[in-house]
Amino acid sequence: MCQNKQLNPFSRIQHGLRVRDLFPMQLNKKCACGCGNGLVGRQRMWFSEDCKQKSYQEYLVILGDRDTIRHLLYSIDQGACRHCGLITDTWEADHILPVYKGGGACSIENFQTLCYDCHKQKTYLDSREAHNETISLHDPLKSFSRCLKDLGERTIFAVDTSTP
Ligand SMILES: [Zn+2]
Ligand SMILES: [Zn+2]
Repeated sequence: MCQNKQLNPFSRIQHGLRVRDLFPMQLNKKCACGCGNGLVGRQRMWFSEDCKQKSYQEYLVILGDRDTIRHLLYSIDQGACRHCGLITDTWEADHILPVYKGGGACSIENFQTLCYDCHKQKTYLDSREAHNETISLHDPLKSFSRCLKDLGERTIFAVDTSTP
């Protein structure tokens, strides 16, 4: 998802990242934003103010700037949870592809609005998955025994609910 070598997709903040790392000055006198428009007169980087604003916003999102991400996400979702539809003031910006899977340093497409509860649940499931993956990478036997333990917990839970 992130091709720029300066970026660390496994971190939510890109320390030391500069605008020109993402949008280097073009040698062929074209706008740095990639719109393809040629620079005229005294223009050195951007063809228009719009090109500059958009690029700067994209840069801040990739950098991991919380305010920019929330501002932009609100303009897309208006605070409505994408999972359950609930509209609250306490909504949270969630990385759709989690940072531990390389979802950091990404543009706004990798963010979604989630309400507090849905976010908590997703974070819990993600961290559980991450934990299991870590174990299975290092020790297949431990992973297997953990599966058995999970199975045991579920069975106990089922018995608890079925007896009045
Ligand atoms: Zn441009
Ligand atoms: Zn929700």
